[in-house]
Amino acid sequence: MLQKYLQLPQKGKIIAEYVWIDGSNGLRSKCKTLPGPVKSVKELPEWNFDGSSTGQAPGDNSDVYLRPVAMYPDPFRLGENIMVMCETWMSDGKPNAYNFRHDAAVLMEAHKEHDIWFGLEQEYTLLDDFGWPYGWPKNGFPAPQGPYYCGVGTGKVFCRDIVEAHYKACLYSGINLSGTNAEVMPAQWEYQVGPCTGIDLGDQLWMSRFYLHRIAEEFGVKVTFAPKPIPGDWNGAGLHTNVSTKEMREDGGMKAIEKAMEALSKRHTEHMKVYGEGNESRMTGAHETASYDKFTWGVANRGASVRVNRACAEEGKGYFEDRRPASNADPYQITGIIVETMLGKVEG
Ligand code: ADP
Ligand code: MN
Ligand code: MN
Ligand code: MN
Ligand code: MN
Repeated sequence: MLQKYLQLPQKGKIIAEYVWIDGSNGLRSKCKTLPGPVKSVKELPEWNFDGSSTGQAPGDNSDVYLRPVAMYPDPFRLGENIMVMCETWMSDGKPNAYNFRHDAAVLMEAHKEHDIWFGLEQEYTLLDDFGWPYGWPKNGFPAPQGPYYCGVGTGKVFCRDIVEAHYKACLYSGINLSGTNAEVMPAQWEYQVGPCTGIDLGDQLWMSRFYLHRIAEEFGVKVTFAPKPIPGDWNGAGLHTNVSTKEMREDGGMKAIEKAMEALSKRHTEHMKVYGEGNESRMTGAHETASYDKFTWGVANRGASVRVNRACAEEGKGYFEDRRPASNADPYQITGIIVETMLGKVEG
């Protein structure tokens, strides 16, 4: 039915879907007709919404402004239509309380000579109408973990169609999806975004989350980024954050990595504050996680807060993996605090 209408010509006009982050780490969007195709994000008009309906502003001063910061070809409407990532601003010219991109962008810009790359591993879980992991027995549990990670076949993987659709939609949009895999817990999946430079990582990852919700909606499936969706002997979901600076990627880069470890170890508590809500239920020291309270790092150690992969240790250069962030953490805040800790504070 829908296909027939989607094919109708738009008479030269384009549709821009403005996407933003709300007051509870969720995503919102609304769309706007523009007179014609747009080449750069700078051509896009500012817009606004009712912040009292999204937990972002009080009712008596509810206008929140949307400032476009990145745009992508729209994989749902195709043609010249676009998806637009936005920052949220207040009428007094200050960033909205939930606009965490602003400070992160200032940090990235100030330290841009270090050419910082990020690659994030987004884990998530798909749920059915009852909020139970998709494909799990209605009043019970599947067989224990083991056959599901990178698995194939009925009863081992669930919703591969959603995963495929999401992969294609991201590539279509130029989102740098670098891979995907089925996870240890059945109905749990991972995809990686990156390497991306600086603030691009946060923009692309947030838009990829929007796509995931949007596609799963079409299949009548829910997405949860909860870090420990099922208590007990079931893996939690993380957002492993791979990081490198120009210095780390050059010969002898291990020195720069060691220096970063020293800096990270001193600010463990501050990092954990922005590494996701409910992360203590995931970071138990079991299921390939470190303990919540203590910073550790090691080569090839999946039980440490930060892992340096073996190839990197052998070559003496490369990148490190911060394994602490939970799947529901904000990539702007994660990448922002890592840059701040490694390279220094900046007044924004
Ligand atoms: P894991 O072995 O932990 O499952 P993945 O292959 O899932 O690792 O993810 C590794 C991530 O690291 C990818 O997103 C990739 O883009 C990213 N990455 C690779 N090289 C670098 C680098 N030099 N700097 C930052 N990120 C990198
Ligand atoms: Mn209205
Ligand atoms: Mn991975
Ligand atoms: Mn994983
Ligand atoms: Mn990893």
